[in-house]
Amino acid sequence: MTANQMASRQLFVTTALPYANGKFHIGHIMEYIQADIWVRFQRMQGNEVNFVGADDTHGAPIMIAAEKAGKTPQQFVADIAAGRKQYLDGFHISFDNWHSTDAPENHELARQIYKDLRDLPAEKGGSLIETKTIEQFFDPEKNMFLPDRYIKGECPKCHTKDQYGDNCENCGAVYAPTDLINPFSTLSGARPELKNSEHFFFKLSDPRCVKYLEDWTQGVDENGKPRLQPEVANKVKEWFSVRTNPDGTTSEGLGDWDISRDAPYFGIEIPDAPGKYFYVWLDAPVGYLASLKNWFDKGGPKNRKINPDTRSFDEYMAAADTEQYHFIGKDIVTFHTLFWPAMLHFSGRKAPTNVFVHGFLTVNNGEKMSKSRGTGLDPLKYLSLGMNPEWLRYYLAAKLSARNEDIDFNADDFMARVNSDLIGKFVNIASRAAGFLAKKFDNKLGVISEDGQPVINLISSQKDNMQLLYENRDFGRAMRETMLMADVVNAYVDANKPWELTKKEGMEARLHDVCTVCIEAFRLLTIYLKPVLPQLAAGVEQFLKTTPFTIQDAAAQLGAGHVIGDYVHLMQRVDVKQLDALFEVPNMPEASALTAQAAIKSVAKNTPKAVDDARSEIITIDDFAKIDLRIAKIVNCEAVEGSTKLLRLTLDVGEVDDAGQPKTRNVFSGIASSYAPVDLIGKHTVMVANLAPRKMKFGMSEGMVLAASAADEKAQPGIYVLEPMAGALPGMRVK
Ligand SMILES: [Zn+2]
Repeated sequence: MTANQMASRQLFVTTALPYANGKFHIGHIMEYIQADIWVRFQRMQGNEVNFVGADDTHGAPIMIAAEKAGKTPQQFVADIAAGRKQYLDGFHISFDNWHSTDAPENHELARQIYKDLRDLPAEKGGSLIETKTIEQFFDPEKNMFLPDRYIKGECPKCHTKDQYGDNCENCGAVYAPTDLINPFSTLSGARPELKNSEHFFFKLSDPRCVKYLEDWTQGVDENGKPRLQPEVANKVKEWFSVRTNPDGTTSEGLGDWDISRDAPYFGIEIPDAPGKYFYVWLDAPVGYLASLKNWFDKGGPKNRKINPDTRSFDEYMAAADTEQYHFIGKDIVTFHTLFWPAMLHFSGRKAPTNVFVHGFLTVNNGEKMSKSRGTGLDPLKYLSLGMNPEWLRYYLAAKLSARNEDIDFNADDFMARVNSDLIGKFVNIASRAAGFLAKKFDNKLGVISEDGQPVINLISSQKDNMQLLYENRDFGRAMRETMLMADVVNAYVDANKPWELTKKEGMEARLHDVCTVCIEAFRLLTIYLKPVLPQLAAGVEQFLKTTPFTIQDAAAQLGAGHVIGDYVHLMQRVDVKQLDALFEVPNMPEASALTAQAAIKSVAKNTPKAVDDARSEIITIDDFAKIDLRIAKIVNCEAVEGSTKLLRLTLDVGEVDDAGQPKTRNVFSGIASSYAPVDLIGKHTVMVANLAPRKMKFGMSEGMVLAASAADEKAQPGIYVLEPMAGALPGMRVK
């Protein structure tokens, strides 16, 4: 065992658990990329990392969403979980395990932690759980206690309107739903009534908790570093001094935390309290441990270096050398810096080593991407357009720092950075040198002269600095400094002009020297970029015929005589058409509900296939079967007064009314720019017959006809209504 292996750290790393009521949005992907870069760097250092995630599955929103979808909550969250892999694999996120907070491990762990807090003996200060009868909002129309997420109102702290009942997405304040100003039920719109219910509380106001949390949040971690980021520690500090009470007054210090909810609730039943469930935020962070336990129980970490045979999940979690880190967004700081460390500590467990907080991601200076709202850059669309996931990893890395601050994805900046940094400065170094090495030197590296050695030494000497930057999550600086090193290499190439050396007599050795410098330098730069660009680095390892790079490899060289492989292109440039397609906003004016632009897009002949093809998720035949497509005869068509876009179609789809008389449908379609009414009368087309009727300004629309148009309608105008081959009759099913 080498000294380096002996010093190997034991790291348990998580990202925040995504709520299992929807797909991942770009905010999730940013957090996973940030954590994954750090994890991959730690692995390159020889540290043992267990990197786990899970779906956060409990709570009323999922219960209600499942009911709407006609599924059990279990089936609902299983279906969500089944969709996770394509994102995680797609963006090269290297979780060791992905689990669920509804798994047996989590039920067991959450109940045990609760019991440990409840049953604290008198000599340790007694129980930290108590019950209180509280007044809670009740929806008189729905006849149920209202889940926090189904009450909205004005934030009592910053007065932002339309905030949920548990915490404010604007200022991050956490409060009771009864604190909201002008509350309303989002289920019924009714003004909720207050009703009594017995609730369980975690006594965060207990002096033991206050003292412990002040020390934990304001102190240093086990490595002697300030625990929280300074801006986070300062924010948390405020919560120890003032809080807002349900009646709008303020009090000193931390308030107790309401951890129970009444049935009906999808969650974990509280021990010895039938009909009472843990509030989802009690068992959600326990899911970190549940996922890790599941990972250990399945055989767990590969290549374990310390006590490989003996360390169980319990031993690992209790071990002094196990470091525990959570990457989270700034909207859930309270849960992770107050409730979670207190729950762990007072239940006799180790608290996290640290919590790394990041800001929100905005897209093109648009709306923030939070846990609950909004998209703007659809991650799956990004992948389906054939865009390289490592472009996004690089771009986000270049923007990320250790600070809790928002970052913006800007499409033009994205293209400029990827094309000029990654391709122009970095990949080009290899492509410039590899051709000469293959043609003239059988891919064999030469001897580096005194002229080139300083270039290599300069890059190699940055190893410690790069380690520090990655360790401190200062990825933006790591990227900038790596690109500065690439500039030095490119300046060296420009000064030595291998393309001229190759044409001159007697300059073979010089050419060999210059190309060797390029390849050795390229290898070093790749090592520094590997946590960010794992797939590209794997390609370079293959190209250079080396073992997988570790950070220590930056202290060595391949050396003269090493034979590399043939260069294969490592990365494409970003095509502006891809970005146009990524941010293309579906037309949403009056016409949009009815032209089927969204349903069928023509693939224009002159558009690269990758750009316009495969833009949607894969669906099953069952999904497709939900759309009732029918042949329709256009029995009448007329212009719509007051609209330049719409035509009114009267369609025969073979239906009859109760009296057995033929019945037609009225459909508005946004095709007036391409057809005169007379062109369409008597023709057959295809309609979506089971689309919910939609009330429009001009009347009710009872379906949608299918039409094709180009991705970029400005560049290629024209809408083409579908027409079946001769013989199709009204009412025939299209399948
Ligand atoms: Zn607020």
